[in-house]
Amino acid sequence: MTFHVYNTLTKEKVPFEPMEAGVARVYNCGPTVYGRPHIGNYRSFLFADLLRRWLEYLGLEVQQVMNITDVGHLTDDDVADSDGDDKVEAQARREQRDPFEITRGYTDMFLEDMKALGVREPLARPRATEYIDEMVVMVEKLIEAGHAYRVGGNVYFDVSTYPAYGRLSGNRVEDLVAGSRVEVNQEKRHPADFALWKSDEAHLMKWETVFGPDGFPGWHIECSAMAKALLGDQIDIHTGGEDNVFPHHECEIAQSACANGVPLANVWMHAKFLQVDGGKMSKSLGNVYTLPDVEGRGFEARHLRFALLRGHYRTQINFTWAIMDEIRARLENLDEVAVLLHRLLDGGAAAADAEAGRDVLAKTISGFEEGMNDDLNAPVALAALEGLRKPLLEGQVGEAVAQDALAFYRRANEVFGFIEVDKQTADGEVEALIAARNAAKEAKDWSAADAARDALTAMGIELQDTPNGVVWRRK
Ligand code: AMP
Ligand code: ZN
Repeated sequence: MTFHVYNTLTKEKVPFEPMEAGVARVYNCGPTVYGRPHIGNYRSFLFADLLRRWLEYLGLEVQQVMNITDVGHLTDDDVADSDGDDKVEAQARREQRDPFEITRGYTDMFLEDMKALGVREPLARPRATEYIDEMVVMVEKLIEAGHAYRVGGNVYFDVSTYPAYGRLSGNRVEDLVAGSRVEVNQEKRHPADFALWKSDEAHLMKWETVFGPDGFPGWHIECSAMAKALLGDQIDIHTGGEDNVFPHHECEIAQSACANGVPLANVWMHAKFLQVDGGKMSKSLGNVYTLPDVEGRGFEARHLRFALLRGHYRTQINFTWAIMDEIRARLENLDEVAVLLHRLLDGGAAAADAEAGRDVLAKTISGFEEGMNDDLNAPVALAALEGLRKPLLEGQVGEAVAQDALAFYRRANEVFGFIEVDKQTADGEVEALIAARNAAKEAKDWSAADAARDALTAMGIELQDTPNGVVWRRK
């Protein structure tokens, strides 16, 4: 069973083959820290975490880098040569605070959310402002090699020098120009050229470099330079959300290939946008939700983690509060599998044959692994885990199988990270009432048995008599 991934660059599923045996080098585009990231952003970041965890499940060492964009991401970012205000600076002006203070504050919130959402720490979280020197070196190299040119304090990438420009997104340079909605900058040799470095006296976050006193980097060069500095010229996988395909990743591919002489990443993977209330999240609709908003409605961070990972990363998923209620119930069922396994191993209702249910477990494991190996098909993998609940409720699982099932369930949750597998539950009172009911039944004291059952029902406990004993669950 090989891990297959969908490569946006070649538009096909390919077997994942790391360049170095046993090691996967992965770069994830991170947040632009001009606000607390919203739940849509977290779909992309949790997809990156799922990918990392799956690679680890497969036994690979994952060298993962997720950047923090704290300068240079302009508001009109859907065109290659983005224009407008720097998102961070615009926010700084709105809040009347220093831009560096703004990015520090929102970075802290981002890290807090990531921790709450159970995201594993990557190897590095570089901030763009800490890699200005590396960006300048790369830009100079592009100029020397004839792929970029200076106009005063600005430097542009010359797209005509990289014929593969447009391969990732399917955009053709000619169409880009014709369809351009921004006024063409007359400085540029070709309208589709994009800025690597900009100079602007009025910019608040600016650096003195060989290009002049008041410069700042273009957003695209940031990721090319940070990936190179931390992971090398060529990496295995580069990820982002679907809006990163163009222009951000298209431009990264061009710059890096021209500066380094090798392709930046072998595989490009993109998460589809999360929808909220069936459409795009928008401030005017008041549905740009953050993790604290979700928690404010009584959900835990792990409910959101489940909600964002439950669908395949390349399919559309929707977020509504009604869906969150369903998510809570579904996650309770997954938690219950662990509770039932623990209870069985603590002397609860096990099938007489210790090997009973072996085939069910084998099917669960293969269903889970086949799902995840198929381009991280989480819904298939989840359905496999959910399939364990019924045989446990029916007392059809033997002790030896339960032992292995619990070990597997822990490993599966190393991948998903939203199930409570080993939560201690204080079940003593319930167990005592069940034991009292069993003893009463044995003594044919039916009224005492009924009284014990009524007490359990009042506690919200549902009993199921199986040939192998009583299985109980909270309603
Ligand atoms: P930004 O902070 O705008 O740089 O975005 C950070 C990451 O979140 C990028 O990889 C985006 O593609 C991704 N992203 C933004 N909105 C959504 C969304 N609604 N669903 C999924 N990913 C998103
Ligand atoms: Zn990026």
